[in-house]
Amino acid sequence: MSSPIALVTGASRGIGRGIALALARAGHSVAINYASNRDAAEECQHLCQAAAPPGSSATFGIFPGDISTTSGREQLLNSVIERFRWIDLLVNNAGVAPSERKDLLEASEESFDRLIRINLRGPYFLTQAVANFWLSGLAAHASRPRPKIITISSMSAYTASINRGDYCVSKAGLSMMTLLFATRLAGEGIGVFEIRPGIVATDMTGPVKEKYDRLIADGLTPIPRWGVPEDVGRAVVAIAQDLFPYSTGEVINIDGGFHIRRL
Ligand code: NAP
Repeated sequence: MSSPIALVTGASRGIGRGIALALARAGHSVAINYASNRDAAEECQHLCQAAAPPGSSATFGIFPGDISTTSGREQLLNSVIERFRWIDLLVNNAGVAPSERKDLLEASEESFDRLIRINLRGPYFLTQAVANFWLSGLAAHASRPRPKIITISSMSAYTASINRGDYCVSKAGLSMMTLLFATRLAGEGIGVFEIRPGIVATDMTGPVKEKYDRLIADGLTPIPRWGVPEDVGRAVVAIAQDLFPYSTGEVINIDGGFHIRRL
């Protein structure tokens, strides 16, 4: 069998890049999706090539595509299938923060619509499209591993931040999306998982670095450090390698223990 093939959305930078690199290290071919930052996507591609095990048959490609639009998703999926012919793993990672954090009583409908379009509607309908692609071709690929979907949500799926309600709502929606697709696709032999990162050092959290430095120093997370993209990448690889064959709809918190209620 050729190396497993992963499509990672938003893999040019940050957590997505960390996921692409971890998968490359584990011998996967990776389709690196990005929205507009081609240089960063190419850099990720080179890093993946360097990270692949010696003698691996894995290959890496970069694929532009705005996952928030129907045409962007179609373009992405068609070009990935044309290049790789199959997908074993979809990682819904691409996402954005609000351009400006604003109080719940003032934040705009435009910001709400933008976040829902990119963070929720995009992954929802990309998952639908990939699932339908699988269902039309599973019989011919029966020797390959169980197809899997991993969605990167956030601790914001259940943590109320009143200065970015739109982000929280979009991430809470991803948690239900995971349960829905897990239920619908279990009988088809497709595993569906959610990874909930906590505070991870990327461009997204750059503008609030000092605030989170302080909160972590004050004990916000039982494990007293920032997360790094590789922390998420390792969890993705564990799922990709089918180490959870009797699980679906499962949530894995990669958050330094943030989710633990403490007294
Ligand atoms: P980031 O560093 O800002 O990177 C975002 C990535 O998403 C980039 O590759 C970007 O592509 C891509 N992207 C943005 N909009 C897109 C679109 N419409 N279509 C396709 N790709 C798009 O963000 P990050 O911190 O790595 O976050 C990655 C995911 O983890 C997000 O879903 C985020 O909500 C989630 N998360 C992050 C944290 C954290 O602390 N960082 C915590 C919990 C959850 P370009 O390079 O082309 O712009």
